[in-house]
Amino acid sequence: MKLTKRQESILEIVSNNSPITGEHIAEKLSLTRATLRPDLAILTMSGLLEARPKVGYYHSGKSRYRVVAEKLNSVLVDSVKSVPIVISEKCYVYDAVVSMFIEDVGTLFVVKEGGLLEGVVSRKDLLKTTLGGHDIQKLPVKVVMTRMPNVVITNPEETVWVAAKKIMAHEVDALPVVRKVKFADGSEGQEVVGRLSKTNITRLFVELGEGYEGGV
Ligand code: ADP
Repeated sequence: MKLTKRQESILEIVSNNSPITGEHIAEKLSLTRATLRPDLAILTMSGLLEARPKVGYYHSGKSRYRVVAEKLNSVLVDSVKSVPIVISEKCYVYDAVVSMFIEDVGTLFVVKEGGLLEGVVSRKDLLKTTLGGHDIQKLPVKVVMTRMPNVVITNPEETVWVAAKKIMAHEVDALPVVRKVKFADGSEGQEVVGRLSKTNITRLFVELGEGYEGGV
């Protein structure tokens, strides 16, 4: 978190004198209380300072990285996910290639009836198939996809940070966002409700950097 010189000075004054009132901080900086108001607001909103009525300002005890980490941990997959691009398990590799171009995505989710997740197919899966010299109009996408239960998934209530760690650990570009569904016969499935890609995470990163409250 980048602070201005004045904000740095305020933090130092609070460190050495806490608790201290806004009035006293202003005095030490030879400024008016009104001039300091926006800085104090930023420092308290960012979690670096805490204010107690009638007592004054004091350090929250959190480092700047801790404050950023808390912010990242408060953003849920639900607020940054995109619409999922899915194809039926009955499709052929040719259909998958066409969908990828039309929808402009690098990962397609393969679903069976009811939108239940069956697998994932990526650019490399499709490229590999063409190297094999197959007739892609006749080769079912099911043959080339990564199938359940090997698909790494996330859900709307998971934090983006946890999901991002999965993307890194498994070296994939996107995770299907799923919701567990239970059927009368006791069986379970994963209904695809979204897509979390590296692009969603990069967008959040950029928005946080710009000071937006993107999804927080
Ligand atoms: P690309 O093919 O563009 O490199 P990925 O790195 O995402 O894209 O895919 C690499 C491999 O991982 C592919 O075989 C793909 O089927 C598989 N894969 C992609 N996403 C997932 C996921 N969420 N869970 C498990 N496997 C995946």
